[in-house]
Amino acid sequence: MEKLLFIYNPHAGKGRVRSKLAGILNAFTRAGCLVTVYPTQGPGDAAEAARTLASGFDRVACCGGDGTLHEVITGLLALPAERRPPVGYLPAGTTNDFSRNLSLPDGLENMAAVAAAGTPRPCDVGRFDDQFFVYVAAFGAFTDVSYNTPQQFKNMFGHLAYVLKGVSEMASLKGYRLRVEHDGGALEGEYLYGMVSNTVSVGGLIGLPSEEVSLDDGLLEAVLVPMPKTVADFQAAIRGLARQTYDAESGIVGLHSSRFTITCAEPVPFTLDGEYGGDHTRAEISAVSRPISIVYGT
Ligand SMILES: [Mg+2]
Repeated sequence: MEKLLFIYNPHAGKGRVRSKLAGILNAFTRAGCLVTVYPTQGPGDAAEAARTLASGFDRVACCGGDGTLHEVITGLLALPAERRPPVGYLPAGTTNDFSRNLSLPDGLENMAAVAAAGTPRPCDVGRFDDQFFVYVAAFGAFTDVSYNTPQQFKNMFGHLAYVLKGVSEMASLKGYRLRVEHDGGALEGEYLYGMVSNTVSVGGLIGLPSEEVSLDDGLLEAVLVPMPKTVADFQAAIRGLARQTYDAESGIVGLHSSRFTITCAEPVPFTLDGEYGGDHTRAEISAVSRPISIVYGT
């Protein structure tokens, strides 16, 4: 039997994992795995469990939100490459952006079957100075919006949630004067929001068109929203985000690059995979090519 380490966050998604646990474990066993179960004990513990336990296993399954996945992958990256087992993801959090890349089935038991027996594919991760991110490093006005808006509200109202919350805060919008260096050159300007990602979905909404995104191409995508001067500018930017049109009319910049250097005279607060990643006047961001493997649904 394959040895599978199951790391789960018992508090993810308001604890709904706990009621499904028996079915998940049964699905692993039915798929031919001998399972070791590790419920995380608090923040940082999923990373610690992956780092200290995973190298003895054929496969790791991770159940929780994107924060739990971030921790598990960060923990695995501390291991030598040849001792990193592939990772299956059972998304059960309030933010499950990354799972949109993986063509997973519905239902935690079905996801468990995929995690145990599906085919792993290589996946890039992002390096942010001495930290890693799985799918997004972001800063600016929308950073708060995307992670403070309750998921239910976001699902019901879609991009309207962004528009309403954004407009209500326009008077207090803050821009950052940045220089952004990338493979093709450099740009400078005042930006309201920026993100560097390796995913088809951030906040369920924004990103580059999915056909332009690949998780293992050695490239990251940047989206930069300039600081609006007027409400009309702001609305054009919102429309551009919703339609993924990055052009002169929306004012939004979309780029592919293997690396970005972002500099600013004042410290810029970043989030990495939705968690606070520190304030930075200079950030070196790059794609790390295929350091891990992730299990896909199809
Ligand atoms: Mg990519």
